[in-house]
Amino acid sequence: MKVLITEIRQESNSFNPLLSGLAHWRKSGWVLAANEVGAALKGVECAVGGMIEVLEASPRRPEIVFGPAFSAQSGGPAESEVLESFWEGLSQAIEANLPLDAVFFSFHGALQTIDFDDAQGEIVRRVRELVPSTCVLAASLDMHGYITEAFAAAVDIMCGYHTYPHVDFAETGRRTARLGLAALTSASAPAIAWSPVPMMVSASAYNTLSGPFRDLSLYAERLVETGELLDFSIFQMQPWLDVSKPNSATVAIGHDPRKAERYARDLAERLYRLRHTFTPKLSSIDFIIDRAEDPTASKPVILVDSADSPNAGAPGDSMAVARRLLERQSTARSATVVSDPAAVAQAFEVGVGGSAEFAIGGRVDASAIRINAVGYVRSLHDGEFRLEFVGHGGRSSRIGKSAVVRFGNLDVLVCETIVSSGDPQLYRAFGIEPSMYDLVAVKANTSFRVGYTKIAGEIYEADTPGAAAPDLLRLSFRKMTERLYPWMDDATFKARARVGRLVANSPHGELTEGRGADRI
Ligand SMILES: [Zn+2]
Repeated sequence: MKVLITEIRQESNSFNPLLSGLAHWRKSGWVLAANEVGAALKGVECAVGGMIEVLEASPRRPEIVFGPAFSAQSGGPAESEVLESFWEGLSQAIEANLPLDAVFFSFHGALQTIDFDDAQGEIVRRVRELVPSTCVLAASLDMHGYITEAFAAAVDIMCGYHTYPHVDFAETGRRTARLGLAALTSASAPAIAWSPVPMMVSASAYNTLSGPFRDLSLYAERLVETGELLDFSIFQMQPWLDVSKPNSATVAIGHDPRKAERYARDLAERLYRLRHTFTPKLSSIDFIIDRAEDPTASKPVILVDSADSPNAGAPGDSMAVARRLLERQSTARSATVVSDPAAVAQAFEVGVGGSAEFAIGGRVDASAIRINAVGYVRSLHDGEFRLEFVGHGGRSSRIGKSAVVRFGNLDVLVCETIVSSGDPQLYRAFGIEPSMYDLVAVKANTSFRVGYTKIAGEIYEADTPGAAAPDLLRLSFRKMTERLYPWMDDATFKARARVGRLVANSPHGELTEGRGADRI
């Protein structure tokens, strides 16, 4: 038995005007050739690491081979060279290893290129043309994947993260590999059902730590614990993706195709019923600054500027919060972060202890807010820091050359590229200890809750502009032709599902339409 493992992961943001070329992938993540993947990712807390672990522990001793592994920080849509370079490596690896019994993919699920809105759908379509019809295709995905019908029809197994903030990277790889192997070896082959959900909601408005989305996740987990299902996924589509036919989706995998179909639709309708609870509760920047200036408020006040979250693909170059702090001459000791390579270069020229007039922000997104003010250079850095975030603890990360520039009571960490903005170490490593400030701006969606909840006094999500604006109605979706929630609201929504029966040793692709709501 021979299994090929490959990876291509990025959460693209259609509203970031800066395309992600290979240089961005190399700098912010990794671009590994097939022969480098095993050494680089085995034992690592990631989907590929989890897949390798399960395959090596399998009594069937499958031979493991690799295709390339590409991973990048979120950003603007990928340039053609990314997908074509990945495909060159993957097609060569597949052809060199035929016949393959299975291909395991580590995808994000929301990779958009300038050529393909659903890049993962294009990749699995091409793979299907190369591999035997019996070859099992199994994919690990982010919870924010855009799972299209074409993608669902081409793969046998899909497993999305169960946690948000995401901490189950390796476990999702293990689930994918276990089910992928079951699809090859089980006498009663598992069936997978996919159900589209016509909604797209801000990623900042829910998590699996508390609230209704957690309750839905617990309900679904119970279905697995009680043996009704083998696995489930709830995909809340990356909302800053401009595609013609957007959808969220649910997936249910079970021994019984009728149950898989029923529960995929059940989960889809339950998810849709929660749509109004996913409206983010936004506060104005001024309200949050008022809190930070209030001596009775619990500090630090965390101002969540998710609209400019690089984790969601925004450029990280908005100074909307900084500008308001300076305009108000706020007394709050504050900290924020911005990506601006030109300002970093200027800080290096000025040197530690020097002052100069800086123009910071709005480098990538011309509509992003910039500040022009005299700042004092407190420190200069090479930009390397160690992450605290679960699953990455102790791992080194880089924001490029960087500087801390002080404007009044505001410390601005200026860097070449923001990464891991939800991790307090991003500030701490450069001399900004978040717990010593009145206001800390965090450019992240939900990931920040892992590290910040334990040190935060109060947390507010700000109504800020940007490529990942939490209020989706603020953004202009140009490609979208099919309207969904929040642009329309269908109180009578009835889910449909497609079941792709996994039958080892018979052609894949026999799909049947869901047979109506009577089964629920
Ligand atoms: Zn995600």
